[in-house]
Amino acid sequence: MKRTAEDILFSKYIRLRDNYTCQRCGSEHESNSSGLHCSHYFGRSRKSVRWDNRNCVALCYGCHMVWGSKDREAYRQFMIDKLTQEGFDELLLDSNTIKRWKKDELKQLRRELRDKIKYLETDRCYELHTHERDDSTL
Ligand SMILES: [Zn+2]
Repeated sequence: MKRTAEDILFSKYIRLRDNYTCQRCGSEHESNSSGLHCSHYFGRSRKSVRWDNRNCVALCYGCHMVWGSKDREAYRQFMIDKLTQEGFDELLLDSNTIKRWKKDELKQLRRELRDKIKYLETDRCYELHTHERDDSTL
């Protein structure tokens, strides 16, 4: 599936959010590395959750292969741990909703993603972000 401008911005945002660290094995990557992916739990064809931060985590190439196909159950369990059962059910529901993005909405999305990236790239907010991660169940 072709990567759009939104996909590229969103991937950068997710990898930055996850500190360029694989959320399965903990390996760390350079910001420009192609070895760390933005993995979609529900595939990108589900446009309603294609750029939804709940639906995505940074995974290295190897872990993306494992969770993406061989061990979906472990991925599902990880998502439930991360989002809680209610949050996961909500995401599942949203993923089954048909969404057609209008040009204006995509423009707004790109603006939001650029802002989030800028926010995470500043040092002060990086600290805040790290604290957030401390509360996660990883
Ligand atoms: Zn990994």
